Amino acid sequence: MANVLFTNVRVIDGTGAPPYPAEVLVQGNRISRITRGARTAGLSGVTVIDGAGATLMPGMVEAHTHFAWNNAATLDQIQLMPTEEHTLWTAGVAKTYLDHGWTSCVGAATAKPRLDVVVRNAINEGLIPGPRYLAASQEITVAGSLGDDMLPHLPYPEFSFGQVVSGPEEMRKVVRMFLKYGVDSIKLNLSGDNLTPASDAKTTWMSDEEVAMAVRETKLRGKRVAVHARSCASIKQAVRHGCEVIYHCSFTDEEALDLLEANKDKVFVAPGLSVIVRLLYDGAEWGFPREKAVALGYEEELEAVEQSLRAMHKRGVRVLPGGDYGFAWARHGENAMDLQYLVKYAGMTPMEALLSATKHGGEIMMMGGELGQVKEGFLADMLLVDGDPLADLSLLLEPRKLLAIMKDGVFCKEPEMRSSRTRWSLPAA
Ligand SMILES: [Zn+2]
Repeated sequence: MANVLFTNVRVIDGTGAPPYPAEVLVQGNRISRITRGARTAGLSGVTVIDGAGATLMPGMVEAHTHFAWNNAATLDQIQLMPTEEHTLWTAGVAKTYLDHGWTSCVGAATAKPRLDVVVRNAINEGLIPGPRYLAASQEITVAGSLGDDMLPHLPYPEFSFGQVVSGPEEMRKVVRMFLKYGVDSIKLNLSGDNLTPASDAKTTWMSDEEVAMAVRETKLRGKRVAVHARSCASIKQAVRHGCEVIYHCSFTDEEALDLLEANKDKVFVAPGLSVIVRLLYDGAEWGFPREKAVALGYEEELEAVEQSLRAMHKRGVRVLPGGDYGFAWARHGENAMDLQYLVKYAGMTPMEALLSATKHGGEIMMMGGELGQVKEGFLADMLLVDGDPLADLSLLLEPRKLLAIMKDGVFCKEPEMRSSRTRWSLPAA
């Protein structure tokens, strides 16, 4: 691990402060010194990266990832991939995220019991490249809801990407199995979803007894519960039971918003807008012409989620980017689209969208005191960006605009070196 000095960079530090010119010194895996403005001379034993005015910002955090989703157009295709291929696929996707500037990811559910855990462990052991990662369980669901894909005449659980339970005792058994495997979070499908018309987004499926059991068992081991909650009743259920990570949050009323606001220091919301937006506007290519997407309820849901997100953002609820990439209509790697969606649909400024991906990202990784900001003492997860993301968030979609990607003080993508010491020669004074 070399010591690295970034000179001549414009820092977006992830605190919300305006960008400033500075030099940033990385020693080991941490940011050890930030010097505003001035140029340091004569540091020995340090690799100097002359940023030539490029932007240095915290690595991004994806709050709702499914490494095991395989860029298919149907849910069935996820499950039909055999385990061996699926493991290699999942490992490959982890690298894709890192290559696109996501230095941390929160797993939101995996497709077979141990995929996420195995990939997280391999990353941590240095066997494969990947972001910092919190491994998820499969989606736990109930008969008939999202994640139960068993056919009446082929009642084999392996057809489902979820684990189907009925009653608190079955819930306890499945939760304990995933905790034994070593997941960081348990995922519950509280509501339905418009991709499964028989259990649409406004419906609520899990009983309070089942949710309470899952939360109790999970918290006993100090782990976290994340939920799929699109319906209004499911959002309230999630907050009442102390589930910290709430995905989607589409349909709210005043009571739901009050509950979220009262718990804003505990809960994180990651809406995962890609499915709704892409199917509604570009779905024809994948078998969802506009009329079909509207009939499935996506127009109504987009209107609802926009209102909900704007209200949550005004009330100070943390809304984070990420969600449900890994389908044909929104492939892995396109995740930075979410930053633009947060501006368009949640009413964020570009700076607020960046904060949601960095400062709040560190918090959802449960490392808020040391991750997600360019700050002395923080872990050195940083991106060197060619241009100003605040002026154009779409820069973050393009890997070639990410001049360097550093995770834990190590370059995952090294800046191109034009001489032995600097990336660029300094512009003429
Ligand atoms: Zn999801």
